[in-house]
Amino acid sequence: MADAPGPLGPVDEQALDEVVTFTSELIRIDTTNRGGGDCRERPAAEYTAERLAGAGLEPVMLERTPGRTNVVARIPGTDPSADALLVHGHLDVVPAEPSDWSVHPFSGEVRDGVVWGRGAVDMKNMDAMVLAVVRGWAREGFRPRRDIVIAYTADEEASAEDGSGFLTERHADLFEGCTEGISESGAFTFHAGHGLSLYPIAAGERGTGWLKLTAEGRAGHGSKVNRANAVSALAAAVARIGQHEWPIRITPTVRAAITEIAALHGITADLDEPGFDVAQLLAKLGPAAALVENTIRNSSNPTMLEAGYKVNVIPGHATAYIDGRTVPGGEDEFRETLDRLTGPDVSWEYDHREVALQAPVDSPTYAKLRAAIEKFDPDGHTVPYCMSGGTDAKQFSRLGITGYGFSPLKLPPGFDYQALFHGVDERVPVDALHFGVRVLDHYLRTA
Ligand SMILES: [Zn+2]
Repeated sequence: MADAPGPLGPVDEQALDEVVTFTSELIRIDTTNRGGGDCRERPAAEYTAERLAGAGLEPVMLERTPGRTNVVARIPGTDPSADALLVHGHLDVVPAEPSDWSVHPFSGEVRDGVVWGRGAVDMKNMDAMVLAVVRGWAREGFRPRRDIVIAYTADEEASAEDGSGFLTERHADLFEGCTEGISESGAFTFHAGHGLSLYPIAAGERGTGWLKLTAEGRAGHGSKVNRANAVSALAAAVARIGQHEWPIRITPTVRAAITEIAALHGITADLDEPGFDVAQLLAKLGPAAALVENTIRNSSNPTMLEAGYKVNVIPGHATAYIDGRTVPGGEDEFRETLDRLTGPDVSWEYDHREVALQAPVDSPTYAKLRAAIEKFDPDGHTVPYCMSGGTDAKQFSRLGITGYGFSPLKLPPGFDYQALFHGVDERVPVDALHFGVRVLDHYLRTA
């Protein structure tokens, strides 16, 4: 039976069934990415390609490494002069330890109206929603105005070298004309307390600056005087870096986020007022502070240490790794500060580095994303936010594609999306998937 026409839009019963089936079946295809090339996305890629082909599209499968498969398909729009839109989702997932879970993480079980398993929110849900929408369009004979390029990528949860990195380096032609993209980590219900439902739409990502620190010293016996102890030098530098209070740097996306969230709490915030105390304001925002507190400054967290092999032997060198992140425009400050904090006895280099992203929140695209959410949840409030980490959008930004995090889900109170992301008992309500299909369908029709 087809949906009644009206406020719920043209999405049909079959699309609502398919999104659940596809989410569940994709979860059952184990695409665990342990890093270091240990992953195989091909069966999931074949699954999505078959379903895109079933919608009359011509998906291509692309691999840099055998088994690490990406899928790209283009829906031709009705207006050839319009810019194209990229919709991308990754096929890999982070590891899950079955003994920690209530339900096997690769069962894809649907129980009491909830789909369980690794990837239920990150991000096989969105992969499935996109399939359900475009197959619905094929049944109806609908064509969007803009060209829509659909990309399912490998390797997002590690280096992206076999995924979006490879696609942007070697197959840029497939993304010809794309100016904007939507993908994961945004537009889910964030319960901010006092019945306030927020839908944070990601409009930026902090940059990545993973660092390797090395201290060289003089090796020797642990009982002897040693003024060139590599471990001591490294440990001092690591402590300085970990304890550094990075200055607050408010970027346009974060400024909009703080101002809008504050207004929803009945607080007028003028961030330009001299001496304005951002920390004090965040303390008044309750749970919603979590949407901004990680992105108001650069950060540098020590994560790994390597030195020595025996308690009475001073090693000749020691290394440490730092997970550094930079706000848009904060990279020079990051580099200069690291030079100072490491000091003369410790050298540092980038182990991995990615730019920060910033997407405008006063753009027609942002307005349409916002409108699509508010159409299907009139009580919800969209707010922009900046992601603290990174996604495939960083790679696609090299092709001039402005990325927004938009994988719509309406979650009931008590569903903590942020905790489920890479967490134990990852799951998504069927109703949330249905909401996502309706919002995505509406947005992509109006994009
Ligand atoms: Zn993800």
